[in-house]
Amino acid sequence: MPLLFRKVNELRNYLNTLRCEGGKSVGFVPTMGYLHEGHKKLIETSKLQNEITVVSIYVNPTQFGPGEDYERYPRDLNRDMSVCEELGVDVVFAPTDEEMYPAGNSTEVYVRGLSEVLEGKFRPGHFKGVATVVTKLLNVVQPDRAYFGEKDYQQLKIIERMVKDLLIPVQIVPVEIVREPDGLAYSSRNVYLSSEERESALSIYRSFLLAEKMIKAGERNAQRIKEAMETYIRKHPHVKKIDYIEITDPELNPKEEVQEGDRILVAVWVGNTRLIDNWKVSL
Ligand code: AMP
Repeated sequence: MPLLFRKVNELRNYLNTLRCEGGKSVGFVPTMGYLHEGHKKLIETSKLQNEITVVSIYVNPTQFGPGEDYERYPRDLNRDMSVCEELGVDVVFAPTDEEMYPAGNSTEVYVRGLSEVLEGKFRPGHFKGVATVVTKLLNVVQPDRAYFGEKDYQQLKIIERMVKDLLIPVQIVPVEIVREPDGLAYSSRNVYLSSEERESALSIYRSFLLAEKMIKAGERNAQRIKEAMETYIRKHPHVKKIDYIEITDPELNPKEEVQEGDRILVAVWVGNTRLIDNWKVSL
């Protein structure tokens, strides 16, 4: 079993001893737990690139808005510990709220601009919570490398920006999206979906294939591609609402004409579950 720490100071002391022993490289995978194949890919990548791998499991309250799924977010530390053991994780950090947000805490991290578009419009405050907790976690673990999934593409871009701006000495390593065999991106929130809803949720992946087909056939107009995707997704019975379908360059600036490397980003409500996904354009 990996060593489990719940307290900042205990984890710090342990990692300091390791670092003093032999300058071992530390890879860090921050998660909210309920680990799936997407998380596993991050952990495996860290295992390949570092001598020590630390995984954090923390459902961070400050990145959930009022009325969002903080309370019902799936949690199972025992299962997560077994997954981490299988993968050879060295250390799991599962802090309490009191450890992460000491009484009287008053400091937040906010990445202007990038936090205001796409997800930011629909989840105000979300990225402030993310940037704040990731800063804290990086300060505790002080890893050489930290692993973030492209599944949360905007989050990845915000963390990259933040680490540059705050001169945090860590290498951010992006990891490609892991999908189920039928194309649904792995997400801890997929457990909310009934089997009929799951079928409707597949329309997101299939709309990317549709976009790709249009692009490969020569279509370059972003508006027409987005409209075709929207029409396709809306046909599915459990799709309640589309928050956005956007096509941007890799730095999240909206595009009118698509080109290689652009991103198509989508947020869709299927039943009461909000799903996000994205796709890299290849010509
Ligand atoms: P979460 O536990 O949902 O906060 O995710 C923790 C990390 O795993 C984030 O960096 C996510 O982007 C990443 N992640 C989640 N799902 C996937 C996936 N399907 N493929 C790749 N990375 C993922």
